[in-house]
Amino acid sequence: MKEACGVVGIMAPGRAVSHLVYDALVALQHRGQESAGMATWDHEGITVFKDNGLVASVFNEQSLHSLRGDLAIGHTRYSTSGSANWTAAQPVYRSAGRVGFALGHNGNLTNTDVLATRAGVLPGMLISDSDVLAQLIAFRCEEGRTLTDALSDVLVDVEGAYSLVILGDGVLHGVRDPFGFRPLCLGRLGTPDAPEGWVLASETPALEVIGASFVREVRPGELITISDNVVSSVQLLSPQSSDEKLCIFEFVYFARPDAYLMGHQVHSARHRMGEALAKQSFVDADLVMGVPDSGVPAAEGFAAASGIPFGFGLVKNRYIGRTFIAPDQISRSKGVRRKLNPLRENIEGRRLVVVDDSIVRGTTTQALVAMLRDAGAKEVHLRISSPPFAWPCFYGIDTPTRDELLASRHSVEEMRAFIGADSLAFISMENLRSAIGLDSECCDACLTGNYPAPVPVGVRQAKSST
Ligand code: SF4
Repeated sequence: MKEACGVVGIMAPGRAVSHLVYDALVALQHRGQESAGMATWDHEGITVFKDNGLVASVFNEQSLHSLRGDLAIGHTRYSTSGSANWTAAQPVYRSAGRVGFALGHNGNLTNTDVLATRAGVLPGMLISDSDVLAQLIAFRCEEGRTLTDALSDVLVDVEGAYSLVILGDGVLHGVRDPFGFRPLCLGRLGTPDAPEGWVLASETPALEVIGASFVREVRPGELITISDNVVSSVQLLSPQSSDEKLCIFEFVYFARPDAYLMGHQVHSARHRMGEALAKQSFVDADLVMGVPDSGVPAAEGFAAASGIPFGFGLVKNRYIGRTFIAPDQISRSKGVRRKLNPLRENIEGRRLVVVDDSIVRGTTTQALVAMLRDAGAKEVHLRISSPPFAWPCFYGIDTPTRDELLASRHSVEEMRAFIGADSLAFISMENLRSAIGLDSECCDACLTGNYPAPVPVGVRQAKSST
């Protein structure tokens, strides 16, 4: 799976904010590693700088210096819609009459085809769903609507997942789709009595790293407007469900462990997932180890609840990216070795419980088990901190087609045999929800097939088979 994207927006009157946006983007790097970009407003115009690559390779001191202004947005990207090349990097900029604006999008729209036709995008010329969205907003601005009004007009007809930051002439907007699939929070620079600025960000660590305090999450369907250092809010779109439908995989895998989502710290939730797994699917073993990074807190939880010692069995190379973009199955298997290397002394002759966050195609897990056996593991028992991943995602996570998902066509026993583990167990949906501490629903469509927002038949079919 590839992650969603990361967005940030900052208004801090009188203060150059490009370095703050840069630091926040580095904190959100795990959400997208294909491209990074920033747009700033300096009271005269908007400057956009973006390129393919990691945040640290896209920006340097010179480019940050040239990105002047006290209002800015930033974006880190994975391509869930459109191409992965430079033209699809964000922020997307549009000059529309006397209005210029830049937009950063985390999510994936499900009615892009309809919107593209409306925007006059010819078949085969689509850059991304975010680009189409920007074009529709630009049309409205050209008709004389303000940026805020244009957003209100356009978003009514947009379906799917979006957390947006939009920078205009002296104004910063943040908006979440009416289901709230992807996270977005509001933070403050300075004190409550004397705010020095405001921040919108995908995850709370992006606030902390720049010295901002968490204020609250943006509500599903809410439009935040920050102008003259004052925050205002309207419920632009009615929530489409009695419960927020934040992606449950933000808790399992995507979000940083130090992030807070819906009031729950992600690390603690992952720890509890491991505890629940130990109670639900105990197996006697000599060592519990996690697959770095997101499997480690769950492994600690498994060890605490089972009494089996926790240890490290895998060393992760942190410098090849959080995931690997391999063009075929063979190189994907080799990619495991490039990314993870076994600690032979901790593994040799031992019965291992290995905790991971998910199994998608199964090829990566298969290669991992083979690597542990090569390193001398006596037994390998896999425990997975999410239920079987059997359905593709249409809301901002790039997943394989349904046919490629191992759980869509195999029983747990068949999966175990394919992977080559001695035993395999997945956390139950009930235990996952209670480990997170959810008293409301999340989106769990990739685990249950219950899609909260409509997915057009054509879009669904495109992800049904290879
Ligand atoms: S389908 Fe799965 S990955 Fe996609 S938003 Fe829902 S829970 Fe998240």
